[in-house]
Amino acid sequence: MAPDSTAPDRRAGSAAPPPPFASRATSVEGSPVREILALTERPGIISFAGGLPAPELFDSEGLRAAYDAAFATSARRALQYSTTEGAPELRAAVAARATARGLATDADDIVITSGSQQALTLITSTLVEPGDVVLVENPTYLAALQCFRLAGARVVPAPCDARGIIPEALAELVARERPKLLYTVPTFQNPTGRTLPTGRRAAVAATAARLGLWLVEDDPYGELRYEGRDLPWLAAHPGAEDRTALLGSFSKVMAPGLRLGWLRAPAALRRAAVVAKQAADLHTSTVDQLAAAHYLRTVDLDAHIATVRTAYRARRDALHAALGRALPAGCEWNLPEGGMFLWARLPEGHDATVLLRSAVAHGVAFVPGAPFFATAPDPRALRLSFTTHTPAEITEGATRLAKALAAGAAL
Ligand code: PMP
Repeated sequence: MAPDSTAPDRRAGSAAPPPPFASRATSVEGSPVREILALTERPGIISFAGGLPAPELFDSEGLRAAYDAAFATSARRALQYSTTEGAPELRAAVAARATARGLATDADDIVITSGSQQALTLITSTLVEPGDVVLVENPTYLAALQCFRLAGARVVPAPCDARGIIPEALAELVARERPKLLYTVPTFQNPTGRTLPTGRRAAVAATAARLGLWLVEDDPYGELRYEGRDLPWLAAHPGAEDRTALLGSFSKVMAPGLRLGWLRAPAALRRAAVVAKQAADLHTSTVDQLAAAHYLRTVDLDAHIATVRTAYRARRDALHAALGRALPAGCEWNLPEGGMFLWARLPEGHDATVLLRSAVAHGVAFVPGAPFFATAPDPRALRLSFTTHTPAEITEGATRLAKALAAGAAL
């Protein structure tokens, strides 16, 4: 019998394939070391890789009570749709904390976001057209690079030294490249742990004002300071007022699973970001926002942060000292004043991505530095997070790292 040519042909292979993905979805790669890092979940591995807060320090009882209270006092509201800008009491609490940190802020200046990562996405879709130049620190936060690349930006690294962006070099670059924005993590940067000194903050703000660009100041780590004095946000410096998107997060001081962050931005930018947020997710989870607001009303978050800081300081010191005892001459690393990361460099001729394989075999992990560079990666660099292990485990981890390095050198 002749086949019925009008019937749809359901045989695999003859169906027309669906159209291709958008080019932006295929042009941005995931992390090349993701597979190796998946191995670091194995029991027994001492991992300096993840940028995770220590779970045993979460105030799980306090947060549980806050969720209970959100349901007990306002279940209908907690379970309902709400406004895109965020719950008024949480916006007010964020504004009060920002004001207490030296930047006068109204509740209306704040948009609550689903993690500060979302704030970055919203700002990017508001400001960046394909082909626009975005300046970043060198190296910079990996997921920011992905975000800018997904938007089709041309990402250009600003020259940095051990204290962050070099203002004179920045000014030259801005004049030459005419960027839309500068993305910076000025305090306890990811991945380097570096902090931009006050004088440089002032110079960056002045450059932005003089040459005309937006500033995106990402500050998830600023409250995790272990020594030294707090520095004013970049957003607080003259020239930055009308052009800075300041991004904050509850991830490192409460818990990242809440997915709560915030954006403080000048009115026009904020309004455009709110439209982008409507398109993205309508609003951040109401129940999470009400629980967080209740928590901030009833718990002394600063006392909790002080506990976290004490633990992290000891872990940072343990890693710094253990590297000093274990690693061979020619290795270098810094001592950040806060945050979660220490940045290290292997001796001449070594490659951190190659070392990672042997490190995992020796029961220790880290993140190679290369993916954090927008261009021209430094293969000798690596990022070590010190937050999730005890000082004794950290010391053992450094010993394993030294063994992996020695094994590699012996090949
Ligand atoms: N910015 C930087 C620099 C980060 O390191 C992180 C988290 N790793 C984020 C933003 C995202 O944090 P959140 O959990 O608030 O989305």
